[in-house]
Amino acid sequence: MSCQSGSEDLTKSLVFRLHEGTPEIVRDVLLERGWVEFNEEEQDENDWNLYWRSGFSNAEYENIMPWQRLIHYPKIMGITRKDNLARNLKRMSGVYGSTTYNFSPIAFILPNDYTKFVAEYTKDKKANGGKLGYWICKPVDLSRGRGIFIFQDIKDLTYSCSVIVQKYISNPLLISGYKFDLRIYVCVTSFCPLIVYIYQEGLVRFGTEKYSLASLDNVYAHLTNTSINRFGPSYTMDKERVGSGCKWTMSQFRAFLHSLNINEPLMWQKISNIVTMTLLTITPSIPSPPNCLELFGFDILIDENIKPWLLEVNYSPALMVDCNADVIVKKGLLYDLIDLLNYKEVDRLRQRGYPSPWQYNILSRSHPSFCVTNSFGNVLPLHSNASKKANEIWSSSQNDSLLVYRKNCNQSNGYNQSEDQEMDSQKVEEENKSSYTSKQFSHIPSSTGEDSGKNIKKVYSSTGAVSVYCLDPKKCIKNVKPTRSLPKKTLTSQMREKMNRSYIRTQNPVGRVMLLGAKYEQSDGNFHKTGPRFPSVDLQRYQLASFPQYSLSEVDKKPKNRIGDFILTFPFNEITLKASRDPINIRIIMQELQKMPKILQLPKSAKSKSEPHLDSSSNRKECFGSFLWGPRNPPLLSECCFQN
Ligand code: ADP
Repeated sequence: MSCQSGSEDLTKSLVFRLHEGTPEIVRDVLLERGWVEFNEEEQDENDWNLYWRSGFSNAEYENIMPWQRLIHYPKIMGITRKDNLARNLKRMSGVYGSTTYNFSPIAFILPNDYTKFVAEYTKDKKANGGKLGYWICKPVDLSRGRGIFIFQDIKDLTYSCSVIVQKYISNPLLISGYKFDLRIYVCVTSFCPLIVYIYQEGLVRFGTEKYSLASLDNVYAHLTNTSINRFGPSYTMDKERVGSGCKWTMSQFRAFLHSLNINEPLMWQKISNIVTMTLLTITPSIPSPPNCLELFGFDILIDENIKPWLLEVNYSPALMVDCNADVIVKKGLLYDLIDLLNYKEVDRLRQRGYPSPWQYNILSRSHPSFCVTNSFGNVLPLHSNASKKANEIWSSSQNDSLLVYRKNCNQSNGYNQSEDQEMDSQKVEEENKSSYTSKQFSHIPSSTGEDSGKNIKKVYSSTGAVSVYCLDPKKCIKNVKPTRSLPKKTLTSQMREKMNRSYIRTQNPVGRVMLLGAKYEQSDGNFHKTGPRFPSVDLQRYQLASFPQYSLSEVDKKPKNRIGDFILTFPFNEITLKASRDPINIRIIMQELQKMPKILQLPKSAKSKSEPHLDSSSNRKECFGSFLWGPRNPPLLSECCFQN
């Protein structure tokens, strides 16, 4: 087969890049779905759609292209490291109340919190009439059960690295005497607004020896990690009810729950609330780069009172396949995850499907309201060829003394240049000292054909405007030219068409998202921007032409209720959608979250008279439709729970 036909095939297929350690199942599913693997030797550096790796650098987030997706958000360690999670939950509990944030066992980060731990240990002992309680000690930066031990007496607590000591849930719900926990797969498609999907299937992970408080050092009885239990002597044995191995699917678990006479919907709703409340601890601090998605593994333990407890949040949850339950759950999960990534036909063409960076560049220069940036406000990178081309065009047609890439992400009601200028000139000095390297802007050509990248700086104003200035001392800020029409000779009809279709997504430094769009029309031999200066947001077109951060239904502009077996759990109504937009209003979200379990505690026949805000049928109407999350079998909980 010729090279040419090979590359034609590539343009029609979506292309994935995998890091060396990525589990095979990821490759298998992508190939099954018709994707092609990236080949470094044959393909352009940006010629891929999905990068699956354990983490990304700031530069990678900054340089993301519209057709690309990254499988992580930045800064999510705030919940995926044990110590950070404990710290963040404690902070939230201080602000929103310990009765709201009561789903995680009390924890202390040692050595720092040693004195506080001793105080709690003593209090606990006293409350139990001198009887010692149970504690679990876990190294903060280890996983898979490594280094964990359970103790009662403080003199048995030894550690040589930073650890968290947590109250041990000593009364877990057991299945035929075996301890288990739940692995819940949670996908965040956006942090601003927060949009959360929970996968209907999941895993139940068992200890492989019967639970007993008499043998605290038996890891096969007390720890439910597969990485430990697969080496247990009873792993392959057919254990009562549990069977062989150490995993069930969530559907198997639901069948078991039916045999217990419990308020099952309430339990699933509590888990869903735990997920949302945990994510809210970091939501305001996560930058919102476009085209990212995060898959978390939440570990939940159910105690004998059917209270769910959050044990841990996993970054990159294990995708190894070592039993049938894994195949069922993880394969389905990956299939649906790809759908959550929301690729469009145009993404298959990659750079051929989008206006090229040098066209973006022309747009950026043509009007101060335009620039192409990613969510961090950085100008998208230009390929060297594109850069050359743009350079040619501009050196022949322009005579700038200053390059200005400006956007105002704050308002759609106008643009006050003088205000920004004033603010910007004050901040230039400050920015000079900032960490932005000249390298980032070295691709921006100067009007004279010289490389002025070294002199270019980016400046934020208090309104969220971002400007990039050429700081050559001879070229001062006073020379800002606000509006300029596009040079006619540089536009082909194809380019014009693309520009008219272009919707450019911008975001201010604190994460507000808005879209800028424009049409160009020819008059006096030049192309002029027409239409409102800051046209209203057109999400539908945005989805077509740019990169969707989350899936909005085209009918009602709300996040889709389900994508495959991913069920939307947040936002769940208009109030929570509004409150989770920038600036996020956590208090309102908390109030709405608190209503849900209360509704479920009411008998089905409860009427709205006594407490109208808790009326289940009216609440259901207000909700986006998903309302309740729970495993697939038996049917969706919302269907069985609100029949009147
Ligand atoms: P790791 O990241 O090493 O897996 P986890 O916090 O998930 O650490 O703990 C490992 C296992 O230990 C859990 O799967 C669970 O079975 C048990 N475990 C952890 N914390 C507690 C706790 N507070 N109470 C009861 N069991 C716990």
